[in-house]
Amino acid sequence: MEDCIFCKIADGRIPSELVHNDDICVAFNDLTPQAPTHILIIPREHVHSLATTTDQHKDMLGHLLATAAKIARDKGFADDGYRVVINTNSDGGQTVFHLHVHLLAGRAFVFPPG
Ligand code: AMP
Ligand code: ZN
Repeated sequence: MEDCIFCKIADGRIPSELVHNDDICVAFNDLTPQAPTHILIIPREHVHSLATTTDQHKDMLGHLLATAAKIARDKGFADDGYRVVINTNSDGGQTVFHLHVHLLAGRAFVFPPG
């Protein structure tokens, strides 16, 4: 997608320090962190939101979650715990319409979220 900010990060048009990078996804620090650790994991493929995914995205979706768990283990906060969030469409609070997984850690989170 020509004007999608996350596509630009994924393909290097916007230089970013990547936390993780593979054939399917990239991960980078959120610009406005909501916790001491706040990482976004996004597919390289432009996908509008979780709501537009189909059966053909199953492997990619599994890979995003597996990558979140791997980053949590590698960075050493898996045992303390963390929160994984996928805001979806308007009521879900999605503001960037390229599918992304938030990985938040470094403090305790309340549930349900606001
Ligand atoms: P959401 O509200 O779930 O769509 O989340 C979008 C997230 O993207 C927000 O937490 C923003 O702070 C973050 N964000 C927007 N632009 C950038 C950027 N250029 N680099 C890193 N994070 C960004
Ligand atoms: Zn995109």
